[in-house]
Amino acid sequence: MIRPLWIEVNLKQLSRNLKAIRKHLKPGVKVVATIKQSAYGHGLIPVARELSSQGIDSFGVGSIEEAIALREDGFGGSILVLSAVLDKYAGFFIRYKVTPSVVDIKFISKLNKEASKIDEVVPVHIEMDTGMGRLGFACRNVSSLAGQLKRFKNIKIEGVYTHFPVADSDPDFTNYQINSFNKFIKELDKEGITPDFRHCANSTGLINYPKAHFNMVRPGLILYGVTPDLAVQADVKPVLSLKSKVIFIKKVKKGTSIGYGRIFFSKCPGYIATVAVGYADGYPWSLSNCSRVIINGSFLNIAGRVCMDHIMVDAGKSKVSVGDDVILIGSYKNLKITAEDLAQLSGTIPYEIVSRLSLKIPRIYKS
Ligand SMILES: *Cc1c(COP(=O)(O)O)cnc(C)c1O
Repeated sequence: MIRPLWIEVNLKQLSRNLKAIRKHLKPGVKVVATIKQSAYGHGLIPVARELSSQGIDSFGVGSIEEAIALREDGFGGSILVLSAVLDKYAGFFIRYKVTPSVVDIKFISKLNKEASKIDEVVPVHIEMDTGMGRLGFACRNVSSLAGQLKRFKNIKIEGVYTHFPVADSDPDFTNYQINSFNKFIKELDKEGITPDFRHCANSTGLINYPKAHFNMVRPGLILYGVTPDLAVQADVKPVLSLKSKVIFIKKVKKGTSIGYGRIFFSKCPGYIATVAVGYADGYPWSLSNCSRVIINGSFLNIAGRVCMDHIMVDAGKSKVSVGDDVILIGSYKNLKITAEDLAQLSGTIPYEIVSRLSLKIPRIYKS
């Protein structure tokens, strides 16, 4: 690493977060650790290995590619793909023993056909759309759905699940979804289908809706110690820090403009430090002129626009030198900058801040 930009991932903290999450659950409730999109930017394999060492029950991934990467790394447990896959790729689920989310009949019938060729029974989870509007079957006409599902002799309906769009902001709608899901499970049971696993809780659902736990939960963001919303109170701490170094420093007169667009002018004579991070690394351009960093134990503001691979920092009169560490996300003593802070300043959600950190940035894993 010659360009000084790196991510530190604290795997011990990841395990501590998992422990804290498990405290919310009744004994026997299984955890699907959601590690889609390279574990929300933290790195798929190291995160998966750490969580496996803590006896995680199952992984939720975003693509068959991520599932295959876990298999190739030697993970033998259950993997659920939390998305739809085109039916021509159904065979991959059988070859790699990965569990699909079934959201339409065409896919499951292709999967059944492939499985019947080799005389196997393939487990699947059925996704129900109770109000997310993204993927899944509608809860109407359960007996017709059940009738269709029962035709597939080489499929085991191992799980059924749904997803919340507003668990952080709308209890009425979320409760309505939980009720619809409960009703659906009962009707399905009457039709003779009783899946082993029933689940709907993402991070917010898990923390704020104990009755949404059923017998499986799917936390993502809180595993990484980031909270989706202020209303979500979990005893977790950030796993990831983003760090760089000062690569250039200059003395400026009062009134010197800094960076593209000339939107920043120094308010007094002092120092401007240039730091090796930019929007191409996933540090949002919308933090231009409005975020801050930690250098040598002080907060310093960003001066002007975020460039593709640099930012400038208003060091004022403080002693800053080339080579000094810069904390972009992370903490130093009692100072901290969180993904939630950057999300708020840049008008996005913490999920986007962590998951868009470029995969080219070296990750350093501490255990
Ligand atoms: C991403 C995702 C989750 C995890 O959500 P968090 O808010 O990160 O906890 C759970 N379930 C599904 C279907 C998802 O897509």
